[in-house]
Amino acid sequence: MRQLMVLSDRRLEWRETVAPKLLHATDALVRPVALSICDADTAYLRGAFPARDEFCFGHEFVADVIEAGDGVTAFAPAIA
Ligand SMILES: [Zn+2]
Repeated sequence: MRQLMVLSDRRLEWRETVAPKLLHATDALVRPVALSICDADTAYLRGAFPARDEFCFGHEFVADVIEAGDGVTAFAPAIA
């Protein structure tokens, strides 16, 4: 599995990472099916905000729920 990271110098880089898993009863795992870019992300890449440590890029998406913890009541895994 890969994740897109924003480095501290604002470059983007794909990195290998372990598959996510549920850590808490209120967690859910999702598989994005449609993505978009956020104006805040592009502003950050252009230098509009102070630089920070690297972080995972992207947070605008529509997704299928593929797994949900016992404490999740508003969503359930999609039936394939
Ligand atoms: Zn956003």
